[in-house]
Formats: sequence, C-alpha cells, structure tokens
Amino acid sequence: MRDRKDSPRLLPGARGVEAPSVCAACGGVCCKNQPGAVFPEDVGFPEEPERLISMLRSGRYAIDWWEGDIDPEGDLDVCYFVRPAARGREGQTRHASWGNDPCTFLTETGCALPFEERPRGCRMLTPGPEGKDCQPREGSTKADACRAWRPYHEELVEIIVQIESGYFQKVPDPGAFLLTRESPYVILKAERGESR
Ligand code: SF4
Ligand code: SF4
Repeated sequence: MRDRKDSPRLLPGARGVEAPSVCAACGGVCCKNQPGAVFPEDVGFPEEPERLISMLRSGRYAIDWWEGDIDPEGDLDVCYFVRPAARGREGQTRHASWGNDPCTFLTETGCALPFEERPRGCRMLTPGPEGKDCQPREGSTKADACRAWRPYHEELVEIIVQIESGYFQKVPDPGAFLLTRESPYVILKAERGESR
C-alpha cells in the first residue's frame, strides 16, 4: 500500500470552466475518450518535481507524447506531456492514447477529482450547448500542453528513466531526496548550469 506522499494532488487555485448540469447530462463523453492534459503549473513543475514524481508513481497518471517536435524549429522525436492514466493502464508510466481511453478518474457520478484538482485540459474545456461542440479555451489543448512541457523535456526523460528503473523505490523519501545533491534531477540541472 502506498503512503500519503504518493497521493495524486494537483495544486489548488487555478480556475476553469464548470457546467455541472450540462456535463452530468452528457455523462462525460470527453472523459470517456481521453484523459485531459496536465500542465506544468498544475503540478508546480519544475519548482516541486517531487509532486509530479509522486503522481506518476501512484499509477494514476501517465506520460503521453506528441509524435515529432511541437516546435517547428525543433528536432525532438517526441514531445512529452502528462495526463491521468487511462482506465486499465494504471501503473504504466508511458502510454500513448489515441482515443477510446476512458480516464481512470471517471466514475458513474462524474470525475472523482475536485474541480480545482483536475488537469487544466479538463478545467478549460468549455461545454457547448447541450454538451455538443465543447471547445478547449485559453491554450488548453494537447498541443498547448506539449508546448508547455517542452522546456522540461530532459527532466521528463530523466524522471521516466528513474521511475521505470525503480530508482525511487530505493530511497525512503523521494521528495526529500530530490532536494539533495545526489538526486538525478539536481544533477541534471547542475549539468545544464541551472540552480534550483
Ligand atoms: S465538457 Fe462536453 S463532452 Fe465533456 S462532459 Fe461536459 S458536456 Fe460532455
Ligand atoms: S480528470 Fe476528471 S474531468 Fe479530467 S478526463 Fe479525467 S474524469 Fe474527466
């Protein structure tokens, strides 16, 4: 059993668009298709990397990707972004969803997360009349998420590698350990000449 440090928590405070009656009548067509995109500010990244690591380690969140570089001037093979896990894929750190992947947080009565803890991609999806033509607003699409995460590509790669290698299972408190000089995250930033 995981301890409280692994509990997924998004930062509170970010607003969004909520229309409970419209969405209740719809039943979550968007959530049944694909989990919404998490943005760096949702999880306090890069200031609090332990938050994202805990979410990924919980198995309820995954890293998805954009094929190719979202930056037309860039040369990345993929651009990573974060989202809740797809149902049945919990515990899979990387998973590319192409749709028809219901979100792990969708229940019979709606989203299990409080509104302000939902990903920006969910909060900013504006329900259309009668639940049709729902539109993402203010830069909240999957492409926007990939653009937002792109500056942290190396950090995401490092986190994926360390989670999949079981690195964080070797330390009693990954959050605290991330603040030490031995942390792969700190080493990575030091190599790039950045300080925390
Ligand atoms: S945002 Fe649109 S698709 Fe999603 S639950 Fe609400 S009405 Fe349905
Ligand atoms: S987090 Fe909630 S609102 Fe977002 S896709 Fe999942 S169930 Fe839907």
